[in-house]
Amino acid sequence: MPEGPEIRRAADRLAAAVAGQTVLRAQFAFPRLQRFEAELVGSRILSITPRGKALLTAFDNGWTLYSHNQLYGVWKVALPGQRPDSTRSLRVALETARAAILLYSASDIELWRSDEIEAHPFLQGLGPDVLDPALDVEAVSARLQSPAFCGRALGALLLDQGFLAGMGNYLRAEVLFAARLHPALRPRDLDATQTSALAQALLTIPRHSYATRGIEPTPGMRADYLAHEGERFRFRVFKREGQPCEHCGTPIARIASQSRPLFLCPHCQPSRPPQ
Ligand SMILES: [Zn+2]
Repeated sequence: MPEGPEIRRAADRLAAAVAGQTVLRAQFAFPRLQRFEAELVGSRILSITPRGKALLTAFDNGWTLYSHNQLYGVWKVALPGQRPDSTRSLRVALETARAAILLYSASDIELWRSDEIEAHPFLQGLGPDVLDPALDVEAVSARLQSPAFCGRALGALLLDQGFLAGMGNYLRAEVLFAARLHPALRPRDLDATQTSALAQALLTIPRHSYATRGIEPTPGMRADYLAHEGERFRFRVFKREGQPCEHCGTPIARIASQSRPLFLCPHCQPSRPPQ
């Protein structure tokens, strides 16, 4: 399951291929969407933006394509008129003079008026996005301390897209390790220093991953995402059970939290709340 940084990089690739260009051909597999094919031809693609695990493709004629990949959907970029060899079923094709972007296998696909898209039930349920540059430590700290979230265990809270969108399982483990917090703790168990450290980690770790994980930074990457840490993102605890903690040498442990594996240092992330 891709997490916020991977989804945003995938969106960046699609946008680099077609954003700003005019749609010459639009194709939808579902009959309920085929009336939009003629509507979109001749429009310009304004932006391709992830919102949680959904993707919004905005056109300059007032329509926005909402797509959610669920578990199986995948976007690909191809040359105009070309279709990659695939046993998957093609659900959406948008072609410009330069490229085609192709959505395979997904079924959660809708067209909305752009000025109404924020009313979409999925978007309504999302918290602020950890990769939104406007989101800051103060806002995340306030959210942690709010009545809706302060009583929930961090292991559950950090997977809840209604708390912060863009988080996921590897980010959860890495954020808790960076803040040295056990997943059973609740925000209301934390002192001010711990709350601040957690809020900071909830922003810097996803942003660092987005900017550097698995790829070389490119000139287009946001400079402020790179500034705080020059090195490439790597896992400190995720899938490292049995290996020594880089701070204290204690073997990293693997536990289950919300039916998902979670990795932590039993020494650096003690389960007892502070007295
Ligand atoms: Zn440790």
